[in-house]
Amino acid sequence: MKLGTAESDPGEVSTGYLSVTDLPTGQPEHIPVVVIEGEKSGPTVWVTGTIHGDEPTGMEAIHEFVARIRDEPLQGTVVCIPVMNPSGLRTNARTSYYHGDDPNRYFGFERGDGETPPSVQQLICERLYEEISASADVVISLHTSWVATYPYTIRPRVSYGENREKVEAVELRDRITELTDAFGLPVVNQFSHEETERRSLEHTLTGTAVADGIPAFTPELGGRFVVEQDVCEAAIVGLYNVLHVSGMVTESTSFPMEFELSAETDLKRLIHPHADTAGIVQYRVQEGEWVQSGQVVADIVTPHGETKTRVNADHSGYVLSRYEGVAVYENDPLLDMAVPDDEPLLREHRD
Ligand SMILES: [Zn+2]
Repeated sequence: MKLGTAESDPGEVSTGYLSVTDLPTGQPEHIPVVVIEGEKSGPTVWVTGTIHGDEPTGMEAIHEFVARIRDEPLQGTVVCIPVMNPSGLRTNARTSYYHGDDPNRYFGFERGDGETPPSVQQLICERLYEEISASADVVISLHTSWVATYPYTIRPRVSYGENREKVEAVELRDRITELTDAFGLPVVNQFSHEETERRSLEHTLTGTAVADGIPAFTPELGGRFVVEQDVCEAAIVGLYNVLHVSGMVTESTSFPMEFELSAETDLKRLIHPHADTAGIVQYRVQEGEWVQSGQVVADIVTPHGETKTRVNADHSGYVLSRYEGVAVYENDPLLDMAVPDDEPLLREHRD
């Protein structure tokens, strides 16, 4: 396989760089790539990390995963991009510094005949995606969330009627479910369809890959800024087990640390509740905790510490993350939650 300057033959590991644009200061912007090509042919799994530059866990998980599998008999190929956003990594920022864009919102745009050409970030995403879509049978886009986060995997929703028949969509949904179950972190379905569209999440790497029929998912490996070692180790095991259910390695593996959110129905992401007044937040719950509808999850207090209001949850569910910072304005979000999913994972596309 050839990818940028990396070139591998069967049974080889190759590292190199993919040039995605030129910097004004004369150097190319290089994306690091690692190709682990098995002795025998099989599926091609892409694993990407740190598309948000302040999320180092994906990068570290990839580094350790490569070390783990590089000498193992492998059927198929694993392509790793430890750092999708090198400029964000340099500045420890979510965005790239070219124009402050979130790189994970620039995939899957159609080139129109508009007057404005695409930004450099969009060009970089297009160039990366061209390589990914040329060979990917699976895409795993490693992320982290707010600092105080219980690790989970976001399972994307699948639609039919526009790009594919229902039978193909069912197959895609089932394959994604097989992969997210194998990865091992608690599975939480993506936001509702309406919210997914409102947030332009069809332009994430995972959203675009799934729209193109490539099974893809997004693990959230705990909080950003620091590598949480237990979550990182769970991710390495998860990646390995994805190879196992893809028929690429013979054994599965297990990890003593269990992350689990037990529920009788599917869960979905919901940002909820929000502050109804400005003030200082005092949380009464933490990540991983089950919250009952009506329960007080936070107090909003004055700068003197006097209670202004109590915030109740309108939905029962698990707390996935507390938001960072304690100063809130009206309608600022307080929690990311996993609540019972009231819509199917599969949906007929409507305009
Ligand atoms: Zn992210």
